[in-house]
This record gives sequence, structure tokens and C-alpha cells, in this order.
Amino acid sequence: MRIVGLTGGIGSGKSTVSNLFKSHGVPVVDADVVARDVLKKGTGGWKEVVTAFGEQILQDDGEVDRPKLGQIVFSDPSKRQLLNRLLAPYISSGIIKEILKLWLKGSKVIVLDIPLLFEVKMDRWTKPIIVVWVDPETQLRRLMARDGSNEEDARNRIEAQMPLDLKRSQADIVIDNTGSMDDLNERFKEVCKEVTRPLTWKEFALSRQGALLAFFSVVVGVVALNKASNGNVS
Ligand code: ADP
Repeated sequence: MRIVGLTGGIGSGKSTVSNLFKSHGVPVVDADVVARDVLKKGTGGWKEVVTAFGEQILQDDGEVDRPKLGQIVFSDPSKRQLLNRLLAPYISSGIIKEILKLWLKGSKVIVLDIPLLFEVKMDRWTKPIIVVWVDPETQLRRLMARDGSNEEDARNRIEAQMPLDLKRSQADIVIDNTGSMDDLNERFKEVCKEVTRPLTWKEFALSRQGALLAFFSVVVGVVALNKASNGNVS
């Protein structure tokens, strides 16, 4: 199995590229969806967060008030670290569960769409790593347009992240998304072709098909050995 890492900076176009993969039939594990699930009412992550931050972060229906929690952690780095530390194990195991489901289905190439790929060190499990990059002005403009935020908020959100140029320097494949949607579609076609090329032997061994082949090879080997040793005895 090939696990392709997909990351970028806020507003760089990662979700747009992730949707292109989905529409081309490549399964995507979306870390943001997993992160939302681990905060659902009654889950382990929800309990940890309520214990640490108090019931003031809950809505009337008992679900976490995400914008409120977001405000609390955004203005206080130590609280942000605490939240990340509490949720990281739940998010990691949620991601592994989603990958396992796709493995069981027999998917050979999957995309792991994760904003904090490098920060949470998941980059060691993914190859190749795609970074969706844009120049800083385009990033700011698109982020403000998408979220309807003012320049100061948008800048703060960009600056709270690992620099996009640093992510770019650690990529195997860079998608420069500074151009138009048509440019992006063209570049995406090349990248999709590259990441869905036939698996290497190592990747095949890690796929469900590879595991089944190894299993049947062992069974056939054991049967053959048994037959041979029975033949020797008689
Ligand atoms: P991310 O997931 O990295 O935060 P998005 O995929 O949401 O970023 O893209 C940010 C915004 O920019 C969205 O409104 C999206 O529609 C827009 N966008 C993405 N790529 C392009 C492009 N090549 N041209 C114009 N707008 C784009």
C-alpha cells in the first residue's frame, strides 16, 4: 500500500487538491474529519478536553463549542499545546483506523490529507509527500476571501503555522498553486499520474493483496513440506 501525504498551509489549496483526488477515485483519509470525530460528545477525546478546559467550552446540547475552544487556544500557546497533546493520541489512532479500513478494502494507493503532517511527525509514514504551495500574497488573499476574515486575522492564522516554504523544502512533490484553477487541474493530472503509478515491491508487500500472497505462499510451502516429509517417512 502507498500512503501519499498531502499537506500545505492554510489557504494554499490543500482541500481543493484533496477534492480533486476524491473526484479521480483516489481514496482520501481526511485528518480534519478525524479530528472533528474525536471531539464528538461522549468520546474519549471529548472527556479529556472537558476535564481540562471545563464545561464552559460546551454548547447547550453538550457538544464542544468549537469556535469558543478555538478562541481560547488561539490566544494562549500553552493551552494550544495542551489541546494538541490531549487529542494527538485519539487523532493518530483514528487515522490508523481509517487507513486500516481502506487496507481491508484492498486500496493500493491512498492519500492522507493532513494539515499538520510535519508537525505531528506523520511524514515518516507517508511517501511521497505532496506540499501544496502558494506565494504569500496569494495565500493571504485567498484565505481572506474564503473565510471573510480581515487582513490581521488572516495574517495571524498564517503566522501561527509552520512556514510554508519550510514545508515545501521537505516535499517530494510540490504543487505550485499560485496560478488559476485550470493551471492547478493541469498540474494535478501530472501529480495524480505519478502517485498512482504501479506499486514498488515494498509497497505491494504492505498491501492487502501482498499480505494475502505472502499468507498463501506460506500455506503452500507448509503443505509442500508436509507432503515431502510424509513421502520420506513412507
Ligand atoms: P486549504 O485547504 O489549503 O486551507 P483551500 O483548498 O480551501 O485551502 O483553498 C483556499 C481558497 O482558495 C478556497 O476558497 C479555494 O476555492 C481557493 N482556491 C484554491 N485554489 C485556487 C486556484 N488555483 N485559483 C483560485 N482559487 C483557488
